[in-house]
Amino acid sequence: QNASNSTSLLIIFIVWFPMTDSSSALRYNGLQGKVAIVTGGASGIGEATARLFAQHGTRMVVIADIQDQLGHQVATSIGVDKCSYIHCDVADEHQVKSLVESTVQRHGQLHIMFSNAGILSPSEQTVLDLDFSQFDPLFAINVRGMALCVKHAARAMVEGRVRGSIVCTGSVAASNGGKKRTDYCMSKHAVLGLVRSASVQLGVHGIRVNCVSPNALATPLTINALGKSVEEIEKTYETYARLKGSVLNVKDVADAVLFLTCNEFVSGLDLLVDGSFVGSTS
Ligand code: NAD
Repeated sequence: QNASNSTSLLIIFIVWFPMTDSSSALRYNGLQGKVAIVTGGASGIGEATARLFAQHGTRMVVIADIQDQLGHQVATSIGVDKCSYIHCDVADEHQVKSLVESTVQRHGQLHIMFSNAGILSPSEQTVLDLDFSQFDPLFAINVRGMALCVKHAARAMVEGRVRGSIVCTGSVAASNGGKKRTDYCMSKHAVLGLVRSASVQLGVHGIRVNCVSPNALATPLTINALGKSVEEIEKTYETYARLKGSVLNVKDVADAVLFLTCNEFVSGLDLLVDGSFVGSTS
């Protein structure tokens, strides 16, 4: 009797397993054969998203970053046939243009741009002590860099007649004031303005533009800025969300990016991945 029960369970598992696998592939079949660029893909949210894109069948993910060693390592670990690394400082228009052009040249088209690279200022800057020697470089990456990536990706998509998808990384700081980090908060508000305008302007070409806005989470960006352990940072950030019992991680954000990339009718959305943000308490 036991043996026959085990056999039935095994048969159920064998039949069910490929069904669940193919149903998830069906939901995300929008990525099959696609070519994607991920800026800031050497680390954190970008790295997790590059990995998820590759798992869901993209033909090629091009990681663009300024951390060359790390970028090459991530690309190699994903697989040289599925992922490559290009050095690109997103603040430099020439480099962004050449990133997009070389991607189209090597891989035929550009279908997805995940414009994600971003930084924090070294100091916490309330409006009373805004330091423009930090403000300007931050804006060059967080605002100008995002706009350059959207501009050149959209141009390539329009030229190639690709109904592409562009996702920018915003933040909960894109739609809330903060107690500090004024420059960062301003830069993320600008990202949302960019996404909203671009989605209005590019819809006619069939191009979707969306924003993913995470709550604070432990990545090298925050780990280096706060100089604390991952556990300490996660404990601090727990208080930023009303949702209790789970900790935001890069995979949650990557899942949201995957949804925005694959869904065929969502455009102009700011998708909050914030566990119901309560505001920063520190
Ligand atoms: P991260 O530091 O792990 O990753 C950012 C990546 O961007 C790094 O690999 C870095 O080398 C790259 N980068 C920095 N300047 C660049 C430039 N000029 N050109 C190209 N690449 C550059 O941090 P993360 O948390 O994964 O950050 C990714 C995005 O998420 C950023 O836009 C950030 O503002 C946003 N974000 C982060 C948090 C958080 O709490 N970590 C919350 C909300 C939004």
